[in-house]
Amino acid sequence: MDQPRCGVRPLTAPTVDLHLHSTASDGSLPPAEVVRRAAAANLTAIALTDHDSVAGVTEAVVTAADLGLRVVSGCEFSVAAPWGEMHVLGYFIPLGHAGVEEFLERCRADRLRRAREIVEGLQAWGVDITADEILAEANGAAIGRPHVARVLVRRGTVPTMDEAFQQFLGRGRPAFVEKVLPTFKEVANLVHGVGGIVSAAHLRERASRSLLIRLKDEGLDAVETRHPSHSPDHRSRITDIALSLNLLRTGGSDWHGGGGADNSHSSVGSEMVPLEWLDAMDTFRAGLISP
Ligand code: AMP
Ligand code: MN
Ligand code: MN
Ligand code: MN
Repeated sequence: MDQPRCGVRPLTAPTVDLHLHSTASDGSLPPAEVVRRAAAANLTAIALTDHDSVAGVTEAVVTAADLGLRVVSGCEFSVAAPWGEMHVLGYFIPLGHAGVEEFLERCRADRLRRAREIVEGLQAWGVDITADEILAEANGAAIGRPHVARVLVRRGTVPTMDEAFQQFLGRGRPAFVEKVLPTFKEVANLVHGVGGIVSAAHLRERASRSLLIRLKDEGLDAVETRHPSHSPDHRSRITDIALSLNLLRTGGSDWHGGGGADNSHSSVGSEMVPLEWLDAMDTFRAGLISP
């Protein structure tokens, strides 16, 4: 019974990917294509977690319905941290919510201000580039440094996106410009206010017990343990802290489309996150909503 037959792929446990980007922010594939690739990778569910936007979610949900795949509405926020910037994943973000849209619109407007300043910084460094080129590359998405990096690669200024970050765009480099960052608490309150779940993304070596205790006090529900940037040591340490603090676990590939995986981004489904983690998030939410 239920033994895999010779030549038939053995049944594997259902897996999900809770960290994915599309052209709604700095990903290179449209939401529908992200969903098709997720279905082709045999995933049961995904969360679309674009930076400062849920604009891709409707397209993803519509495409996924025909493929038997579940899409969770997510968003990756940037917040202030003692070391500069921290990323926060919000899950179960309702679409068309006025308060959420107002908040995200402010974040995207600040990204636009920053993109223009980045271009000025590059020009001051002698790089031949215009704001219009970057805006065209972003095509209305939540604009970020990857849009700038792609233009720099296309123009031949640098050979790779990584080089664009190393030479110009990374923290401490000549064209780096800080975002105006909300506090963690502001974002946690926003997400909780609409019934969502808050997870701390890719903390790597920053994930100390004391940091997570402080964040939990301020509304943290979960922590991303499985992420391409996490070493085996990060994974086991963060998992231990999460379990001891009774935090949920999340994980995902942080795929931005294409094949150009680096140390921080891999391909859809690669983190093999069990469906049980999403089930636990559903159960947790149900407990918050019903009395
Ligand atoms: P921003 O949202 O404008 O601060 O840009 C950060 C984004 O840049 C991250 O979400 C990644 O998608 C991307 N990124 C960061 N470092 C690199 C790198 N070295 N190579 C390619 N993409 C990167
Ligand atoms: Mn990104
Ligand atoms: Mn991130
Ligand atoms: Mn991400």
